[in-house]
Amino acid sequence: MVARVIPVEDFDLVIFGGTGDLARRKILPGLFHRYLAGQIPPEARIVGAARSEMDAEGYRAFTREALQEFAPNSCKDGGQVEAFLAMLSYVAIDARGDGGWKELAGLMRPDVVQAFYFSVAPALFGDLAERLHGHGIATEASRIVVEKPFGRDLESARQLNRGLAEYFTEEQIYRIDHYLGKETVQNLMAVRFGNVLFEPLWNAQFVDHIQVTVAETVGVGGRGEYYDKSGAMRDMVQNHLMQLLCLIAMEPPSKFDPDAVRDEKLKVIRALDPVAPEDIVRGQYRAGEDGPSYLEEVGDPRSTTESFIALKVHVANWRWNGTPFYLRTGKRLRARMSEIVVVFKEPPHSIFGDDAGRSANILTIRLQPDEGMTLQVTIKEPGPGGMRLIDVPLDMSFAEALGESGNQMPDAYERLIMDVVRGNQTLFMRGDEVEAAWAWTDPLIAGWEARRDKPQAYHPGTNGPEDSLMLLHRDGRRWRDLEA
Ligand code: NAD
Repeated sequence: MVARVIPVEDFDLVIFGGTGDLARRKILPGLFHRYLAGQIPPEARIVGAARSEMDAEGYRAFTREALQEFAPNSCKDGGQVEAFLAMLSYVAIDARGDGGWKELAGLMRPDVVQAFYFSVAPALFGDLAERLHGHGIATEASRIVVEKPFGRDLESARQLNRGLAEYFTEEQIYRIDHYLGKETVQNLMAVRFGNVLFEPLWNAQFVDHIQVTVAETVGVGGRGEYYDKSGAMRDMVQNHLMQLLCLIAMEPPSKFDPDAVRDEKLKVIRALDPVAPEDIVRGQYRAGEDGPSYLEEVGDPRSTTESFIALKVHVANWRWNGTPFYLRTGKRLRARMSEIVVVFKEPPHSIFGDDAGRSANILTIRLQPDEGMTLQVTIKEPGPGGMRLIDVPLDMSFAEALGESGNQMPDAYERLIMDVVRGNQTLFMRGDEVEAAWAWTDPLIAGWEARRDKPQAYHPGTNGPEDSLMLLHRDGRRWRDLEA
C-alpha cells in the first residue's frame, strides 16, 4: 500500500530561529522529507531568519549538515539534497531591531501562501508580529506558527494571545502541539469515529478507566535552567497530555473541521474537575549510577519543581461520570514509552465459572517508541481439558499492517508544517483551548505551592515515586508496566 501524497500549493516559508535546535532537528529535516515525497513544489522558498550573520550559501551548508545528522538515511541521493538546498535562502535579522527586515520584505512573493514559523523564545512573538506588520511583510492571508511553551500560566498565555491578536486573526495563528501531528493520535480519531465497534462502548458504562503515560528515560540534561522554571505539569501535562485527554474524551464532532473538533476539545477541558491534593503525585529523580540527580542537574538543592507527575482526573460530564483518567509523565523512568490505555470493564457475569479466569478488554494506543494499536481480547486457551480463558492481543502495528508506507510515516512536524501551508487548523490549538487548559492547571500548581508540597524522590530507571503506584492501587487498579 503506497501512501497518497497530494502536493501543496506554492509557498514562501520563513523560519524565524532558522539556526536553532528545533530548526536543525525537526523543521528542516521535516521539510526535506516532504520534498522527497514530492509534496513541495520546486518553486517554493524557505527562508532562514535568525541572529547569526551568514549568507544563503552559509545557510545551505548549515542545513546540509543538519540533514546529514538528523536525516542521514534520506541523504543518499546527493542531487536531491542539493535541489532541496537550492530552495533555501537566509536573512540575518533582529527580532527586536530593524536589521534585516527590508531584505526579508524583498524576498517575499505577494501571490503565494506566506507562512512565518516563530521558532524562537515566546518572549519574541510580539516583536516578530509587530515588525512583520510594521514593515508591510505580513498580509491578511499570511499564517504564523508558534511553538510551545504558550505561556506559563493563564495570565501570560492571555498576554501572548492578545499580543498576536493585535496583528493576526485567529484563523492566521497555528499553535503547534506536535503530539497532535502524530499519526497514531489522528488514528485515535479514525478508530473512534470511523468504526461502529468502539463508540457505543466509549463511556462510563463500559470503560473502567483510562491511562495516559508519557515516560522518558532521559533527565533534564542541559535544559535544567529552563525546565526548573516549568516542571512536568507545565511542560507536559498542560499541553500534550491534555490534548490526548481531549481527543479520548470528546464527543463526536459533527465533522472533521477545525472549529468543530476544537469546540469539542474545549468542552472537555471545561468539564475537568479540580484535582484533589491526594490525587496528585509529584516526584524528582535521585542520582543513579549513570547520572546526577534532578537537583544536581538544575543546580538548586532546594528546588521543588517536579520531574514526574501523576494525576487522577475526572471529566465531569454525562459520558464519563465516575471513570477516572490517570495521567503520568516523567523523566529518568524505566522506559521511553508513550501510550494511551483504555481499560474496559469486565463482562458482568462469567458463564465459564471462576476457575476459567476472566479479564477485561484493553485498547492500547502506542505513540512511542513505535506507533500502533493493540486490542486485548479474551479467547479460549487452545487444547483439551475444559474451558480456560486467556488474553491475546489483536495487534495493529502500523509498520507491519501497512508495509512500506507504515514504515515511512511522516514525523509529526512534517505533517503539521504541510497543514499550515494547506491552511488546515484542525490539528492546532485554538487560543481559547490553551487558555482553558491554563485555567484548569493554575489552581493545581497554586495549591501545591500554598501547601509547600515537596516532590517525592524516586530512583532513576524505575516507574517513578511509590505514591504514584498507590494512586491506582488504592482504587484496586495498576499502571501498565513501563516497557519499551
Ligand atoms: P534555540 O535557542 O536553539 O534557537 C533560537 C533561535 O532563535 C536561533 O536561531 C537564534 O538565532 C534565534 N534568535 C534568538 N534571538 C533572536 C532575535 N532577537 N532575533 C532573531 N532571532 C533570534 O531554540 P530552539 O530550541 O530551536 O527553540 C525555539 C522555540 O521552539 C522555543 O520557543 C522553544 O521553546 C520551542 N521548542 C523547541 C523544541 C526543541 O526541541 N528544541 C521543542 C519544542 C518547542
